[in-house]
Amino acid sequence: MTTYDYDLFVIGAGSGGVRAARIAATYGAKVAIAEEYRYGGTCVIRGCVPKKLFVYASKFGKEMEDATGFGWHVPQKPTFNFAKLVQAKDREIARLEGIYRRNLENTNVELFDSRAVLEGPNQVRLLATGQTVSAKKILIAVGATPNVDADLTGGEHVITSNEAFHLEEFPKSVVVVGGGYIAVEFAGIFAGLGAKTTLIYRGEEIMRGFDMDLRKTLHEQMVQKGIEVITQDTITAIEKTAGGLSVTTKSGKGINAEQIMYAIGRRPNTAGLGLETVGVETDKGGAIVVSPDSQTNIDSIYAVGDVTNRANLTPVAIREGHAFADTVYGEKPWTVDHSLIPTAIFSQPEIGTVGLTQEEAEAQYKNLDIYKSSFRPMKSTLSGREEKMLLKMIVDADTDRILGVHIMGPESGELIQIIGVTMAMAATKADYDRTIAVHPTAAEELVTMRTPTQTIRN
Ligand code: NDP
Repeated sequence: MTTYDYDLFVIGAGSGGVRAARIAATYGAKVAIAEEYRYGGTCVIRGCVPKKLFVYASKFGKEMEDATGFGWHVPQKPTFNFAKLVQAKDREIARLEGIYRRNLENTNVELFDSRAVLEGPNQVRLLATGQTVSAKKILIAVGATPNVDADLTGGEHVITSNEAFHLEEFPKSVVVVGGGYIAVEFAGIFAGLGAKTTLIYRGEEIMRGFDMDLRKTLHEQMVQKGIEVITQDTITAIEKTAGGLSVTTKSGKGINAEQIMYAIGRRPNTAGLGLETVGVETDKGGAIVVSPDSQTNIDSIYAVGDVTNRANLTPVAIREGHAFADTVYGEKPWTVDHSLIPTAIFSQPEIGTVGLTQEEAEAQYKNLDIYKSSFRPMKSTLSGREEKMLLKMIVDADTDRILGVHIMGPESGELIQIIGVTMAMAATKADYDRTIAVHPTAAEELVTMRTPTQTIRN
């Protein structure tokens, strides 16, 4: 019988890889993990966590202004020190990275601080030492990396979200390219921290794939917050000037900015990983093709998380890693249901969304009732801020099942988590209607919307 150094070797210590390694080890498997950068992966080191800390930071300026509407006297214009924010964020990230390492060590997972590449169906080479190790199974959880436009003239001057977390100086002006999650979140951060911010998106409306009411309202609200949103345009060239960078767009616009950040999607981090050597199948975008239980075409090799490009979200990668470990090492087989994924976008205002958009529901169902409510959040009445809260519910008129909920406004991320639970339980509109409202909250609108704002029949 062949013997291996490990039962499981995990490549990549991000959300998916760490969860899989820990769970497999708790079932008694001999596990090792390799990480070329920092433990915790994109989400902890240069994604969700530092992003949310920056989002918090970016809101205080306006909150101090709002306080005056509630009787506070703010003696002088507050000032902001970006370097201090970066230091504080880095301390927190270092603390979290330490926790990730300790949690792995505490479950007896062996850690390698090295890039690892595949050398065979059961073999991995650690580039830091040149050592080759064998494992009965290998899990690839190397995530994704930001796309850049390789052909862009002056493309060497742009940054991505990776660099945005470590800028030495906070820019006075920024152009953000893209209209997805990262672009809208960072446009809000930059603008909130005081940069003159322009967002350029190639399509007609930002946030493609989301409910159109959310897309339009977010666009309006971003403009309201002072962000210039340019649609149906792209950057064609970037030039370095004495004052920073100068951008030319397809439509002929010229924009000067100190930083240009590209957020045009992410690609699976598979280059140079040895997938071709071993014959691991990838799709045309470079993502590893896997079965519902995360197995590749090579029996001993599995993959989870963004590298498989299923639903590129941290909690999904964690689930996929957990399901893999339960199935392979715990004799508890299960697969991740990717069909209902609540998600939050930390744009300003925040978005929470779960289930079908109206456009998707119209394509799949004959009869729909749409409930929509848009109002000024209570806090904005005294602050005088032109904020908008949007709540939208899409209901199958034949069965009363709620098909989608889309909300925008304060704490939408917190709200959508719980709404997601009700949808996983197949909630109907009647379930919401018989629930007593919590007053005064914005969420109470969800249980008091009695009359559809739109009915769609046949
Ligand atoms: P997204 O896929 O969300 O958005 C990419 C954007 O870039 C789209 O607007 C797209 O336009 C545009 N784009 C793509 N290619 C080009 C190009 N060549 N030139 C100009 N524009 C282009 O990617 P992000 O980078 O924003 O985020 C990556 C992933 O990270 C997300 O899909 C999400 O899964 C995850 N994420 C999740 C977060 C959360 O849960 N809050 C936060 C941040 C990231 P078009 O619409 O026309 O294709």
